[in-house]
Amino acid sequence: MRMDATEKQVNAITRRVKALGFQPHVLYGEERKVIAAIGHEKRKSDILDLQGFEGVESVVPISKPYKLASREVKKEKSIIHIAPGVEIGGPKLCIMAGPCSVESEKQVLATARAVKKAGAHVLRGGAYKPRTSPYDFQGLEEKGLKILAKARKETGLPIITEVTNPREVDLVGRYTDIFQVGARNIQNYSLLKELGKVRKPVFLKRGMATFIKEFLLASEYILSGGNPHVILCERGIRTFETATRNTLDLNSVPVLKEQTHLPIVVDPSHGTGVWKYVTPMALASVAAGADGLMIEVHPKPEEAWSDGGQSLTFENFQILMNKIRPVAEAVGRSL
Ligand code: PEP
Ligand code: MN
Repeated sequence: MRMDATEKQVNAITRRVKALGFQPHVLYGEERKVIAAIGHEKRKSDILDLQGFEGVESVVPISKPYKLASREVKKEKSIIHIAPGVEIGGPKLCIMAGPCSVESEKQVLATARAVKKAGAHVLRGGAYKPRTSPYDFQGLEEKGLKILAKARKETGLPIITEVTNPREVDLVGRYTDIFQVGARNIQNYSLLKELGKVRKPVFLKRGMATFIKEFLLASEYILSGGNPHVILCERGIRTFETATRNTLDLNSVPVLKEQTHLPIVVDPSHGTGVWKYVTPMALASVAAGADGLMIEVHPKPEEAWSDGGQSLTFENFQILMNKIRPVAEAVGRSL
């Protein structure tokens, strides 16, 4: 639509798009107002005919298979609002930190206080743990969600936690500020569709063998359901290399920044699997242009019920935060 198109004109085109059997999504950018019309390629000519309508600047077919996630549809970066004063995608980096799993109130509260003091913006913690082995700790479930909510109440930090099942979106949504979709669930399409119906932000982790194109198409499931608040997370992929748990694909940061307006966060904890490598790769992520970081932190990593080997102590997390600041400033970002 033309920038000076009236609301009436936008509504008229939106109705017309619907009447033609397409699904309209109105996106407001600084440079332009876009009505994305999602529908079948075969009926493209009906949409192209809207060219002459009042308020319409141009009708552009989107060549990419992912439409709503694409930079062709929205040129400026999306800024996702998490909580008052906390957002992802703007000039300020968003740091998420906390334990892999919620183990106890004491563990979560101590970690929440420590990461807040070091400057983190969001508290992470898994209450539903999709583990590779069924014999490993599976999470405290709702009891864990209650602990996270308590830590938010005390520290004011918004929380992010994983949801693994479409039937639990309601329950997890009663507690969390951000829904995390884990690497193992990026192909759980019924979960993605369910998360398209909510309006809270969704943090979508790349799968261990996911092409960037598939990653963006997974985000498209959520966006096309009507939830525009999607954050992408690079967490490493599986390669032939075994010296680290995964190979952190930092190529994906500039590639994604070119292809999509959605913010991108890097998780060097799962990306390396080794606590010593987390800080160097966190610095590299920020230098590459990441909008934020997700870092696993534990009061006693050697006693953690999951992912202890890649978790930072409170002290090491503070060191990471101190080192991040000058790198962020060097690339025009702040903490
Ligand atoms: C996690 O964040 O603890 C986790 C399980 O990560 P991923 O889904 O990336 O393996
Ligand atoms: Mn973990």
